[in-house]
Amino acid sequence: MAQRLAHASLNRYPSPEAPELEAALRNVSTIPKAARILFGNGSDELIDLIVRTCCEPDDVVLSPVPTFVMYQVFATLSHAQFVGVDLNPDFSLNLPAMLKAIAANQPKVVFLAWPNNPTGRALKESEIVQILNAAPGLVVIDEAYEPFANATFMHRVLEFPNALVLRTVSKLGLAGIRLGYAVAQESWITQLNKVRPPYNVNILTRIAATFIMEHWSILQKQANLLTASRGRLMAQIAQLQAGGKPLEVFESAANFVLFRVPNASEVFQALKNQGILVKNVSAAHPLLENCLRVTVSTESENTQFLNALEGALVEANAS
Ligand SMILES: *Cc1c(COP(=O)(O)O)cnc(C)c1O
Repeated sequence: MAQRLAHASLNRYPSPEAPELEAALRNVSTIPKAARILFGNGSDELIDLIVRTCCEPDDVVLSPVPTFVMYQVFATLSHAQFVGVDLNPDFSLNLPAMLKAIAANQPKVVFLAWPNNPTGRALKESEIVQILNAAPGLVVIDEAYEPFANATFMHRVLEFPNALVLRTVSKLGLAGIRLGYAVAQESWITQLNKVRPPYNVNILTRIAATFIMEHWSILQKQANLLTASRGRLMAQIAQLQAGGKPLEVFESAANFVLFRVPNASEVFQALKNQGILVKNVSAAHPLLENCLRVTVSTESENTQFLNALEGALVEANAS
């Protein structure tokens, strides 16, 4: 990779399209031949681009909540209205509420994180289909965690006129290079391209990503290891007790696990004191009360975390 990067033409603007990267990506993915691809500086940039392309002020962007916060952030920054539809307490979709909200609000964009962040839960494919059929505008299926999910909508993206699949290399271990991509019918990508800054993906990222896609199996192996560890980690957290009851662990198809403790801020702090940083998502939404999110790591890091968590629960209980 270093050799390839050394030959980059740093003094020249790159071509506005990235044909070399597109070819490498198509080689390692199941993107339908007739679908178009749009690259972004991370999928965050594409979320912003989608909202800016589809929404006038006060138009509605809709999503089940709690979910990835940037949907609301970019909707708000574009002066659109964000409507969140509460998930069920086990973080499954409340489909009747979702369909009702779509009918009432006529959203220009619906965002579905599949699997969802920060809950880890994945919608059923049949639920996505019902939302696609009900929505009057674009439905974005955000597959940031697809490497850990064993499910994708990619092969069906052209089946629906309003479907767009969003992907990123960030959760595969490449968050630093900033590369995401959108896949949809030609007509959507043409409009998004009008709003996209012409050199949004820089030449170093393009060269690095093309190289990495030629060695894709390494990343896939890594993702598979994490997926295998996730099951063990979930089972081990569920064996821990607080106040005489086992911890509540939520179903996950992502590279993290969401669980509930009696006092999240105390447990978070006790873990941090032992050098372990998890995400305290308690305040993000009422359904997430006392929930912490831990990223699946190496086996030895997972063991360190479990030992620390056991101590933190005792400590939080005593104080
Ligand atoms: C991390 C994440 C993103 C953003 O990914 P980048 O490509 O790093 O910008 C988008 N969607 C979801 C659901 C995420 O968890």
